[in-house]
Formats: sequence, structure tokens, C-alpha cells
Amino acid sequence: MSKHQNYIAGEWTDSGEFQPNVNPSDLSDVVGEYARADAASARRAVDAAADAFASWQVSGIQQRADILDKVGSAIIARKEEFGRLLSREEGKTLAEGIGEANRAGQIFKFFAGEALRIEGEKLASVRPGIEVEITREPVGVVGIITPWNFPIAIPAWKIAPALAFGNCVVFKPADLVPGCAWAIADLLHEAGIPKGVFNLVMGRGSVVGQALIQSPHVQAITFTGSVGTGRAIAVQCAEAGKKVQLEMGGKNPLVVLDDADLKVAVNCAVQGAYFSTGQRCTASSRLIVTAGIHDAFVAAMKEAISKLVVGDALKPETQIGPVVDASQLEQDLAYTRIAGEEGAEVFGGRTLEREAKGFYLEPVLFVGTHNEMRINREEIFGPSASVIRVTNYEEALAVANGTEFGLCAGVCTQSLKHASHFKRHSQAGMVMVNLPTAGVDYHVPFGGRKGSSYGPREQGRYAAEFYTTVKTTYIAP
Ligand code: NAD
Repeated sequence: MSKHQNYIAGEWTDSGEFQPNVNPSDLSDVVGEYARADAASARRAVDAAADAFASWQVSGIQQRADILDKVGSAIIARKEEFGRLLSREEGKTLAEGIGEANRAGQIFKFFAGEALRIEGEKLASVRPGIEVEITREPVGVVGIITPWNFPIAIPAWKIAPALAFGNCVVFKPADLVPGCAWAIADLLHEAGIPKGVFNLVMGRGSVVGQALIQSPHVQAITFTGSVGTGRAIAVQCAEAGKKVQLEMGGKNPLVVLDDADLKVAVNCAVQGAYFSTGQRCTASSRLIVTAGIHDAFVAAMKEAISKLVVGDALKPETQIGPVVDASQLEQDLAYTRIAGEEGAEVFGGRTLEREAKGFYLEPVLFVGTHNEMRINREEIFGPSASVIRVTNYEEALAVANGTEFGLCAGVCTQSLKHASHFKRHSQAGMVMVNLPTAGVDYHVPFGGRKGSSYGPREQGRYAAEFYTTVKTTYIAP
């Protein structure tokens, strides 16, 4: 069994324990053994990053761009290999895994370009003869804490901008998906990242994550994960005066209006709710449907989801891979029970047997629900969606916004008037018109409002906001 160590101060380093990385499509398949670090290893990584910062922060932008570009090109060239690894450890289908790997490569290449485009401003002072310069400088050591559901893309969209703007990194991936994290560290090592600039510390959130948050040498924490963990981290960071950025859960609405193209609407709902096994923060979990199209939409949805092929993530015919692990499966089943108890009609949602033992679950649709039910208030994070019937557009908009979350919102309509109104009045960070709520570009900002996000946006040019700090300089001749 191959053993994978942590990467600290430019060395592959033993950290005591190892844990197996198990394939959710086949529980007898172990992807590898991965280090589970203690807090002392995390502190060593922070010290290495702090030491490296002095030279990396003034390193040439060409050096940073070259390293990021090399990593991006290598990921794209080897996307089948990394996509397979991702699907094996997380359970996304192979096509989804390869797509995500390719996107991670594109993200690295985008930020290679951004390293060359760091902007400033020059203004005249209100005092004659004096000039004012506004420049962006790196923040320092950035602690990166990521979830399991996008094992290569989310690390990429945090690590690449952090390094592009001259920060040093300590990266703690989710326990369930250390394989892709290790692969990124290996690629950065191969690309010649200087010692200590990037460090990988695999291990538990309560141990390694906490060591990063509590270290006085970490200046900023970027976190993606659940609401509860994120909010607790924000409190700790505020107390310590650290910069913090959080991307958390969603309860994303997809509004389907009477004038929608039924085929488009069903396609958006099926892709948005069930692909990637529904394990996406942007998943369309509330399908808000006006009365005139409701029955036709529900009938078409039932037909579409009963045809979805659930199976081993690596098999070419599979459309929906397994749930990631036993506790997520238990959570999905618990919400299906709750839906029944709350009076919803439950269509699907049974566990399935396949050749190998894995966490297979049938997609589930809850019909006849209302927005106050628990299934419509709490994030489920499985292959499930609820239909909420409404009378008209105004009620649909109110229900769409009637949630503590605000990540992504979609509308299916052929009316320009309703699409424009929805775009302006949706309380979400991202809006989709006649498109699934999930599936976003890598070169534009990503993030939400209300309980879904906190702090500056990620990705695109807007990433500079979090990964740099602004300096204002006054110059007299
Ligand atoms: P999680 O909150 O359990 O874990 C996220 C990360 O935090 C992991 O690396 C974990 O080890 C670490 N962690 C856990 N406890 C910690 C602690 N006390 N201190 C420091 N770190 C700690 O989330 P998850 O189950 O891995 O991911 C699923 C969640 O992520 C869902 O809620 C989903 O909506 C959210 N998510 C959000 C986005 C977004 O961009 N908005 C994207 C993907 C996933």
C-alpha cells in the first residue's frame, strides 16, 4: 500500500499516523494511505511558511507565473489520471472528475496570468505637487481549509491566487479526499516551488485546522465547508484579528415559470439537483414551480430521474456516482424520512446494491412541499430536491429569497421581463437564467450572500481582494 506523507518546508515528511483513503464506489478498494498529522506538524509547516515569506513576497512575478503555469499545464496534460483519482476517492463520475481536473488546470493557468497583472493606482494628491500611489501587497501566510466535494478545483482556486499574489501557504484538505491534495503538492514540488512557500498538512480539522487558525504566524484563513464550522472559524479569526473568507452552504432555488420551455427546465433541475450526486453547494435543492406548469414538470421530472443510472463512479455508463461516505448517506436517508413525516410525497430515495459494496442511493424528489419544512430550510447535500408549488412569479420570487442562504439562484422562463426582474431582485450571489444553478466559470467571481458566504469573493480578478492588502504611499518630489 502506497504511503503519502505531508509536504513541509520542501520535504516529504512523516507525521506519525496514516489513514486509509477508501473508494465510496467499492469499499474494498483503498486508494492509498495518507498522513494524519498532529498539531506540532501543522505548526512546523506554519513556521516554514513564515520563514519563506520574506523572500517569496518580493520574488519576481515571472517566477510565480512560471510555476503556476507549469502546474496548470501538468494537470491538464494528466487530467484523465487526476480525474480518475478524484472519482475513486470522492465518487463523482469519471466524466465529472476529469472535467473538474481540467478546470483546476485552467484555474492555475488563469492565476499564472494574474501574477503578471497585479494592479495599482496612481492619483494626484489634494496637496499640490504630491503624488499618491496605491499598491497591492501579499497578506503573509494563508491557511487554506477545504471541503471534500470538489477535491481538486476548490484547492486550486485558493492555492493559485494565494501564490500568484506572493503569499505563502499551509493547505489542509478535507480528511476524505487527501489524494488530489497530495497530487497538487507533488506538482508544485516538481514545478520548483521554493522551500516553505507551499506546505501540505493532511489531518483532522479539529487538530490541523485549529492549529492554523490559532497560530499567530498565520495572517489569513480561507475556508470552504459547512455553515457551523465556518461561523466558529470566523469568530476565532475576528478575535485574533485575522483576515477571513468563508464559502459555506446553500439551499439554492430554481424557479420554473409557466412560460418556461419544459425540456430546458427539467434539464436544469436534473443537472442542478442530482449531478455530482447532489453534493454541491450550488445544488438546486428547492424547485419552485408555478401552478400552470407544475403537474407537467413533476411528471417529466419523475420520468427523467427514474432513468438516471446510479453506479460505480468509474464505469462509463454511470450518471450518478455513490454518496461520499456512510455518515453523509445516513444524513440523506434521515432527510428522506423527515420529508415523509412532514407530509411530502417521496419519489425514490432507496439505497441500492451494486456489484461492489458502496454508498449507492437512488435520486429522490419530494413533491407537495412548502418552504417552511425542514427539508427546504436545511442543507441536505445529497441527490435530492423538493418541489414547492406557487401561484405566480411574485410568490416564486418571495419563496426563492425566503431562506437564510444566498449562494446561487436560477429561473427558467422565456419572459425577458421576469428574467430581468429576477436577476435584479434575487438575494443570491450568482443568478442563472435558463441554466442549472450548478456549473460556474473559472475566470469570474464565485460566492454568495447572507448565510452562504462571508468576506471577499473568490476567483477571477476579484480574488485579489482577499489575497492582497492595499498600501497607500504619498510621495513628495
Ligand atoms: P466541513 O465544514 O465539515 O469541513 C470543511 C473543512 O473544515 C474540512 O477540511 C474539515 O476538516 C475542516 N474542519 C472541520 N472542523 C474544523 C475545525 N473545528 N477547525 C478547523 N477546520 C475544521 O464541510 P465538508 O463536509 O467537508 O463540506 C461540505 C460543506 O461544504 C457543505 O455545507 C457545502 O455546502 C460546503 N461547500 C460550500 C462551497 C461554497 O463555495 N459555498 C463549496 C463546496 C462546499
